Amino acid sequence: MATRTVPAAPEPQAPEAGQPETPVMVRQLCWEAAGVVSVLLARPDGGDLPAWQPGAHVELLLPTGLVRQYSLCGSPGDLSGYRVAVRREPASRGGSEYVHSFLRPGQPLRIRGPRNHFRFEPADSYLFIAGGIGITPILPMVRQAVASGARWSLVYGGRSAASMAFRKELAPHRDAVHLYAGDESGRIPLAALLGRTHPDTAVYACGPEPLLDAVTDGAGHLPQGTVRMERFRPRTREHAHNTEVEVVCARSGRTVGVPAERSVLDALADAGLPVAGSCREGVCGTCETRVLEGVPDHRDDILSGEEREKGDRMYLCVSRARTPRLVLDV
Ligand SMILES: Cc1cc2nc3c(=O)[nH]c(=O)nc-3n(C[C@H](O)[C@H](O)[C@H](O)COP(=O)(O)OP(=O)(O)OC[C@H]3O[C@@H](n4cnc5c(N)ncnc54)[C@H](O)[C@@H]3O)c2cc1C
Repeated sequence: MATRTVPAAPEPQAPEAGQPETPVMVRQLCWEAAGVVSVLLARPDGGDLPAWQPGAHVELLLPTGLVRQYSLCGSPGDLSGYRVAVRREPASRGGSEYVHSFLRPGQPLRIRGPRNHFRFEPADSYLFIAGGIGITPILPMVRQAVASGARWSLVYGGRSAASMAFRKELAPHRDAVHLYAGDESGRIPLAALLGRTHPDTAVYACGPEPLLDAVTDGAGHLPQGTVRMERFRPRTREHAHNTEVEVVCARSGRTVGVPAERSVLDALADAGLPVAGSCREGVCGTCETRVLEGVPDHRDDILSGEEREKGDRMYLCVSRARTPRLVLDV
């Protein structure tokens, strides 16, 4: 049998100022589908974990030094444990590889969160769209929709039926659940589906970039704010030109010049200011900061169009400024 070595050198992580950590223990590992393992985390003393709502994720602080985000896919009504499900990335830099190859029941671990940038809002009718491991934040939303008596349907696509996690849990709702296993029934007909979606239907989508791009294209006719999505990794985009920016930290009474080649997050951390970050890619939301003055240049994959226009918060790890000066609540 081939031996696996623990992925060693941790990549540099962003500063972690003031982010509370919760010690947990791995209670159970479960093979959910080809390449997907679920992990049940509980407090070592058996106590309750912090409350959460559908759409929330936690950060796993892996013993190798890597920090990775995973959506909570258990039940918010059961705080005796958090369930996450991790897909093994073939080109892993170490996060999912560690979970699959080295995590064991009984192992102590630390987590941060829950944090939620994919909030599930009350509606009379929902369309859920999930691709691959993107089913994880959608699953608790489905359960809440069932509990609230709302009308809902889920379209769930994957490369093959064998790779699609939680099909058994969805089986009781087979009238509302439409599975698209790529090797059997092809891709989700997103354009047609969104084309006949009523404007009052709230659409929640999570999955790989091509699926989310197709959702964006197909939902052009729906009112702004109808579609909410979460990306597990940043969109591919052109390299943007950076310029220097002056950042006034209102609470700390300090001003920091951010050079073009440094992120705002790193420059503020270098100056010893109390900022927190994790993914450095504009997807996890840890570095969300209130903007008091100035216009941010949003480069994250979290804010909706409406939220961007409002301009009252930004993600310091990737976003910059459209004005020479920003005043932040730091
Ligand atoms: C809010 C949120 C929730 C998430 N929820 C889940 C979940 O429920 N389940 C789940 O499995 N995952 C989830 N993820 C993704 C997860 O956090 C990890 O990104 C994932 O497990 C891959 O980590 P890794 O270290 O194995 O792979 P990484 O090394 O991070 O690689 C991921 C992919 O990026 C590519 N890549 C490699 N190197 C680089 C590089 N230098 N720069 C950019 N890309 C690179 C690789 O080709 C690979 O395909 C979530 C992410 C976010 C932000």
